[in-house]
Amino acid sequence: MKPGRLLYLLILSGNLLTAVAQQTRPVVVIDPGHGGTDPGAIGIQGIREKDITLKIALHLRALAAEDQNLDLYLTRYTDTLISLSARARLARILKADWFVSIHCNWANHPYARGTEAFVAFPGTGVDMYTRKSIALSIDLLDTMEDSSGFKNRGVKFAGFRVLNQTATHCPAVLLEIGFISNPEDLRRIAPYRIAQLIIRIIQEIDEKCIP
Ligand SMILES: [Zn+2]
Repeated sequence: MKPGRLLYLLILSGNLLTAVAQQTRPVVVIDPGHGGTDPGAIGIQGIREKDITLKIALHLRALAAEDQNLDLYLTRYTDTLISLSARARLARILKADWFVSIHCNWANHPYARGTEAFVAFPGTGVDMYTRKSIALSIDLLDTMEDSSGFKNRGVKFAGFRVLNQTATHCPAVLLEIGFISNPEDLRRIAPYRIAQLIIRIIQEIDEKCIP
């Protein structure tokens, strides 16, 4: 059982100032990449990145609903296009503790394969979350490699807008889950299984990172 976080409230009762500990749950915002008129990458047999990312996110949502220790929100729940700024804004409004944008990769070369994670370049306002962003990325990639056999392509810095606008407020990761242009990776991208792995890692990393 996860210990959870403790929020200390000062309550004035009579003449006594009492410190009361209350549990708060970490807020996780999952961002299924693309949507609506933006299909993202188109893979083997016409499979669309926007459909895979939404399926994974909806499974995450369902799994989180069973978890009493996690508040999980999606930036979109349907096949609709949300601007990158609006996705980031939601994370800020909800005061997210973690932000994970989910994508799938594509390459002209059919042999390109594996998972990789991107975090914002270290810099003003970002540094305090860089360590946590990298830690979450490493755990996600290691687990994908060990549990599903994805090649681990490592953690990289990138100037993606959705990262730049969230990484100043919370740890933020953009995860590219396999190449939908590679038949072996496509077999590994089983949305429910991927969601199970991601939710486990978020639970574990949050426990590890509690100050
Ligand atoms: Zn994408």
